[in-house]
Amino acid sequence: MHTPNQALYPTVPLVNNFVYPPLGPVSSVGSIAMEEIAELARPEPNGAPFAIYVSIPYCRVQCSSCHMFKRLLPTRQDQEILLGEYLDCIFQQIEAYASTTRFSGVRCGAIYLGGGTASLLTPDQIKLLVRHLTGSFASGPDLEVTLEGNPSEFSCEYLDKVRTHGVNRLSIGYQSAIESTLKALNSPHRASQALASVKNALAAGVQTVNVDLLFNVPGQTEEQWHQDLYTLLDLAPQGISPGDYVVFPGTAAESLISTGRLTKQHDADTAHRWYQWSQERLTERGYEELVRRFRSAGSPLQLRRPVLQAELRNHRAWSRRLQLYRKASVSGAGRP
Ligand code: SF4
Repeated sequence: MHTPNQALYPTVPLVNNFVYPPLGPVSSVGSIAMEEIAELARPEPNGAPFAIYVSIPYCRVQCSSCHMFKRLLPTRQDQEILLGEYLDCIFQQIEAYASTTRFSGVRCGAIYLGGGTASLLTPDQIKLLVRHLTGSFASGPDLEVTLEGNPSEFSCEYLDKVRTHGVNRLSIGYQSAIESTLKALNSPHRASQALASVKNALAAGVQTVNVDLLFNVPGQTEEQWHQDLYTLLDLAPQGISPGDYVVFPGTAAESLISTGRLTKQHDADTAHRWYQWSQERLTERGYEELVRRFRSAGSPLQLRRPVLQAELRNHRAWSRRLQLYRKASVSGAGRP
């Protein structure tokens, strides 16, 4: 799950990333097009690793201030088929990318399965996807494989399975463990699921557990924010990412605020003060700041480089391509 204002990407030092799905419709993918796409990633000739971001552009519900490209899933019954079809398309792209000269002689340092909601994939689908990627691109034993997801999917059983399939980092879209805050976000999970997901992830022995939470959510009080951060600090995941909530234009959150159905956010000075308070608490508990992300001392989290600039272009092209793909293979499924 994306934190609406802040997508969290791999934490290994990166030369460049590339994003699936790439530019252009499926039907136009050929060796020339793929070389052009691969050119965007520009792995450096010194052999420094690159990262791969695979987006799973489906969600269960529409969060109130989400401006990301995604589709809402139809029924749970259709979910596995639809995601399977989507993965088949991704596998073709992986092979096409891997066949380009750009990726010979360089290794992949990080794979990030993001969203939408990547945890909608079944453990078997994750296994297949990771196998396709590691079978197509060179990588080392230090490969970081991140699964971003929603707390409602992170049961003990699910986490045990994905860990054995190579996932060694989780990015949990926790957001809050207070029901009223989750309600304002229109989050797909409950407070109890948020708490359980972090406990389950730590118990499953996933190497790195990063947790996103939000402050200055409409209606959230300072006391609630303190409670949320203290709750998470007590759970002590390896990474904590406090994000200031952004109400994007044209979203449901903006409309609800403008019509008085959702409380206005606090001003920027208040949000900044909340953030400074959080910095102090995190530092006290042994976390160090990495561009608004904190890691516990000694954890393997490292600062990342910026992601591929072409992401927005990708998302536009991707939107077109996904619609084409769905019409052809899963006509009638889902809601826009
Ligand atoms: S879960 Fe989906 S709808 Fe909610 S913020 Fe993430 S991408 Fe947007």
